[in-house]
Amino acid sequence: MSTWIVTANGSAVPVLAALAADSVSALVVGSAQAAQAAAEGPVAEVVWIEPEPNTPPEAYAPAAAKAAASAAPEVVIAENTPEGRALAGAVAVALGAAVVPGASAWHTDDGVTRVEYARHGGIVEEVLDVAGPVVVLRDAVGDPPAPTAAAPIRKVPAQGLAATVVDEAQAPTESVDLTAAKTVIGVGRGLKAEADLALIEELAKALRGEIGCTRPLAEGVTWLSKSRYIGMSGATIAPTLYLAIGISGQLQHMAGVRGAKRIVAVNTDDAAPVFAEADYGIVGDLYAIVPAIAAALGT
Ligand SMILES: Cc1cc2nc3c(=O)[nH]c(=O)nc-3n(C[C@H](O)[C@H](O)[C@H](O)COP(=O)(O)OP(=O)(O)OC[C@H]3O[C@@H](n4cnc5c(N)ncnc54)[C@H](O)[C@@H]3O)c2cc1C
Repeated sequence: MSTWIVTANGSAVPVLAALAADSVSALVVGSAQAAQAAAEGPVAEVVWIEPEPNTPPEAYAPAAAKAAASAAPEVVIAENTPEGRALAGAVAVALGAAVVPGASAWHTDDGVTRVEYARHGGIVEEVLDVAGPVVVLRDAVGDPPAPTAAAPIRKVPAQGLAATVVDEAQAPTESVDLTAAKTVIGVGRGLKAEADLALIEELAKALRGEIGCTRPLAEGVTWLSKSRYIGMSGATIAPTLYLAIGISGQLQHMAGVRGAKRIVAVNTDDAAPVFAEADYGIVGDLYAIVPAIAAALGT
């Protein structure tokens, strides 16, 4: 069986190569330093595509696909980054391969690769048999193995797509450590408008708490920053008090608040799942209840 690693990040190669049971080659779309970092991993060869200045690695996806297809690997490990996913897609098309995200383990036997991978944000582990080539997407996390003798680097001349980076600016981000807060007021889609966050801010002030939210408020409407969303794919918190306001209580959210000592929920729907996990529940309209609590606290 032959395995290829496809990445724009050379230092990911040693970590990813350590996951493979057999001999591995790496395809790196990046700088000379990236190719050298890759060659320090336990790989037989590094195939290197060097992008032109100001051209993103994604522009070389067709070239990477062509190089990978000529080697016809059975398994391609692509790094789970925006660049890695772009390269993985093109390679998968060229190989006619299935793509499996969230792969945790795999092995090939007699042309069939058995892949274990996570679904539904990690709630379910599924095992898949893929006949034919497969591209597994994988985060390069873990300690790299001890550097080996440098593998040979073979540069492949390649033409990228006509894409040029013309500007780059750091996005303004707010960083909040919800894990340190004793009181967290979580708000969800029960809130009708961004301006209504003022109500939640009043309550947070009265309780000296931090505001948290469900994923749709941070990643959907983006009324709050990503550092404020709680749950399986967001922060895991353990405050003394968690107030869930206008939050239905889907398990992906509740997975992040189960360490709270007390959960109080406010929801108009008395059948909302959040009430099953709350110590106290108030069935009612947050637009009436939140100002009433704030007033009772003397704000
Ligand atoms: C792979 C995956 C990972 C995910 N990870 C996360 C995660 O980490 N964190 C997360 O939060 N979500 C996550 N989600 C999304 C999650 O499944 C839910 O969709 C989300 O948590 C729902 O957010 P919500 O409770 O704000 O909205 P909704 O489910 O729409 O609930 C809104 C609630 O507000 C109530 N309401 C409406 N009006 C009022 C009012 N006036 N007063 C009081 N209550 C009112 C409604 O009755 C309803 O219960 C993930 C989903 C997937 C598929």
